[in-house]
Amino acid sequence: MATLALGIESTAHTFGASVMSSSGKILSDVREVYRGPEGSGIHPREASRHHSEVAPGVLGRSLREAKVKVSDLGLVAYSAGPGLGPCLRVGAVVARSISEYYSKPIVPVHHAIGHIELGCLLTGARDPVCLLISGGHTAILAEKSGRWRFFGETLDITIGQLLDQFGRFLGFGSPCGPRIEELANRGKKYIRMPYTVKGNDLSFSGILTFSKNLTKSERVEDVAYSLQETAFAMLCEATERALAFTEKKELLVTGGVAANGRLGAMLDEVCTRQGVELKVTPQRYAGDCGTQIAWAGLVAKKSVTPENAFVRQSWRLDQVEIA
Ligand code: AMP
Ligand code: MG
Repeated sequence: MATLALGIESTAHTFGASVMSSSGKILSDVREVYRGPEGSGIHPREASRHHSEVAPGVLGRSLREAKVKVSDLGLVAYSAGPGLGPCLRVGAVVARSISEYYSKPIVPVHHAIGHIELGCLLTGARDPVCLLISGGHTAILAEKSGRWRFFGETLDITIGQLLDQFGRFLGFGSPCGPRIEELANRGKKYIRMPYTVKGNDLSFSGILTFSKNLTKSERVEDVAYSLQETAFAMLCEATERALAFTEKKELLVTGGVAANGRLGAMLDEVCTRQGVELKVTPQRYAGDCGTQIAWAGLVAKKSVTPENAFVRQSWRLDQVEIA
């Protein structure tokens, strides 16, 4: 018999609740996204207030759309970290309450494992190198001996933060990736920027400062274009090296930045050169959502007692044993 899981996501901007079956079917995926004032980022306290306001409605809609009752659920999974403490606690409290009141097993999920497991399910990837590119992560990963190992990561800000911080500097509201992509598509001139790959790790903060300064003298479209070309080339270089080293035959791309068309085209060239299959998580499920948490909970099945259902703001992916 298939097990039904409720997944709750609340690490940062999104409060999401989804119901999934262990057969891999997504029965519902409801989310509300906190949007800060134009030009400002995620304020943890404001975002957590948003999450607690929308939580009852999101949860109710998710169960109704899935046509299930809480009593039908086999487990409740929640995003236990890494993320913003006040936001994480809203999701954990909702999950703990359901678990305690209805005597349901509760499964803490590492948010990034959620991105990867859902990506594998939806693309059919089995043993990929994974490029995880989101607001909270920039990492090149591959599984070895039961853990996701880092084959490269950012040394400072993530690729999502680079796009969002530059976008906010221009006065856009977060998340800014789609607006930067639009601008970049209208760029014509490439301007050389700090290209920083150390070993197989990446640094994006130099590009951010450089781009902000450049807007005083250059067209903003050309700056956005050059920013994307430079940062994405760095990602491609490090990813290609990981593919060549591990000799894996699939590249899974997931996280909100996976939606970027130009990056997709550049990674396609990398994969063709390396004889590797490119698997990109469908856009709707590449960003933060309850579905990634429901599915990772079903895969892991490692429940804890409600008193031990904590949150961990900092939690490295390579500390988690994977199913
Ligand atoms: P996540 O943290 O996985 O929800 O991903 C959110 C990040 O994805 C934010 O930094 C967004 O700016 C970024 N993002 C969303 N759409 C795009 C896009 N089309 N191009 C680049 N980045 C994007
Ligand atoms: Mg995420």
